[in-house]
Amino acid sequence: MREISHKLAFVHDAAPTRYSDVFDPNNGGVQARVALGDAALLDLAVTAAKKAQPGWAATNPQRRARVMFNFKSLVEANMNELAHLLSSEHGKVIADSKGDIQRGLEVIEFCCGIPHVLKGEFTQGAGPGIDVYSFRQPIGIGAGITPFNFPGMIPLWMSGVAIATGNAFILKPSERDPSVPVRLAELFLEAGLPEGILQVVQGDKEMVDAILDHPDIKGVSFVGSSDIAHYVYNRGVAAGKRVQAMGGAKNHGIVMPDADLDQVVNDLSGAAFGSAGERCMALPVVVPVGEKTAIALREKLIPAIEALRVGVSTDAEAHYGPVVTAAHKQKIENWIQTGVDEGAELVIDGRGFKLQGHEDGFFVGPTLFDHVTTDMSAYKEEIFGPVLQMVRAETFEEAVSLPSKHQYGNGVALFTRNGHAAREFAARVDVGMVGINVPIPVPVAYHTFGGWKRSAFGDTNQHGMEGVKFWTKVKTVTQRWPDGGASADSAFVIPTMG
Ligand code: NAD
Repeated sequence: MREISHKLAFVHDAAPTRYSDVFDPNNGGVQARVALGDAALLDLAVTAAKKAQPGWAATNPQRRARVMFNFKSLVEANMNELAHLLSSEHGKVIADSKGDIQRGLEVIEFCCGIPHVLKGEFTQGAGPGIDVYSFRQPIGIGAGITPFNFPGMIPLWMSGVAIATGNAFILKPSERDPSVPVRLAELFLEAGLPEGILQVVQGDKEMVDAILDHPDIKGVSFVGSSDIAHYVYNRGVAAGKRVQAMGGAKNHGIVMPDADLDQVVNDLSGAAFGSAGERCMALPVVVPVGEKTAIALREKLIPAIEALRVGVSTDAEAHYGPVVTAAHKQKIENWIQTGVDEGAELVIDGRGFKLQGHEDGFFVGPTLFDHVTTDMSAYKEEIFGPVLQMVRAETFEEAVSLPSKHQYGNGVALFTRNGHAAREFAARVDVGMVGINVPIPVPVAYHTFGGWKRSAFGDTNQHGMEGVKFWTKVKTVTQRWPDGGASADSAFVIPTMG
């Protein structure tokens, strides 16, 4: 059986003691196994990173940026191979896998401008003969722990900024689709990145705990489910690290009575069902405002959802493919049953979906619930599957309060033609990323990505200037160059600029 391993800066012959299965979601079988590392392996990786990092930090930022340029070209040249590899382990369709990698590359494009970003600040004459300047230095060794659902984009969110700012970076990707991160690390080496600056360690909780406890890892970036994000945040901070930990989501799409319903149905179909709903910026909840809107929207949504094509990830006509594992399929189907038990109306039932010729694949058909209410656990919790829940609101005020009161606050969208309502909504809603007639408002790479409430723990976002802040620390220098005349008297009181 194919074995997937780490990508390290040293030869490591010790045989792994533990493995995890990597499935073929299209057919349901095991296609490979990934070696799971432990604390001893991590320690060796950290030693290699410590050796390499000072030289990389001392490499001028323009040269570091050149590696980013080279890497971008190499990924583009290998896009097809990467997308097929990604789809074969994750199950998303090829075009979507290309999008996954492309969104990560956009962060690399931001990193190509790192010399400009790292320029620092300077004040001439802050006092008599005194100048002050501040600049950012890398934190040293950083680590990233990533989820299964974006095995291209999220490793690049973290590694791109961490490396461009002069750190060494150790990535622990999801054990469910571990191959693409290894390929990306290989391409970084080909692009000219020195050995030891980016390493990939495979593993599960044991490796995550080793990362959180390792004294030489100064910062940890995590993306995954909220309970684990909270755990990672607490344990990492207790160990004295800076930690940013992004968690789960339950994003709402609010549909105002004046919205263009045909456009909304198009947008919702993609945002709720694309990638089988396995996106933290999916729109699994739709909130029509007013009874008339609800009736009209439902009428248009049903045929659109029934027309969705579910297929294998290589099917160019398919709107979405299988979910990542049999366990995840089971979890989604259990949530559908919970919704039924709690009294929601199951309008379209995606359970028991079988694709001809791929009967053992992890497919879930598109599912629609209506009359979902806020007291239902199937509403409160994240399902992370192709399941759209309609929650009817009577007024705009009620619609704004729904995402605001929800435990998660990652993304939200408002569909309207009314600029005033849109402006009010964006200002008042208690959610981190807002779309106005944009169903999946993932910010561009030079802005930053991050939710609120239980969708993120820590106080900096991913990529853009927030990412630069996370992976660097500010040093401020106050300097005086005496002219050789009489030296100043000793100062026994705190110097001021008065
Ligand atoms: P997950 O929480 O199961 O796994 C994420 C990472 O944590 C993996 O690397 C995994 O190996 C590790 N891990 C798993 N169990 C652990 C444990 N008990 N202790 C320590 N580490 C552990 O998440 P997932 O299923 O891979 O990804 C889906 C989740 O990620 C969803 O909740 C989704 O909303 C969320 N997500 C959030 C964002 C965001 O930016 N907010 C983006 C993408 C995905």
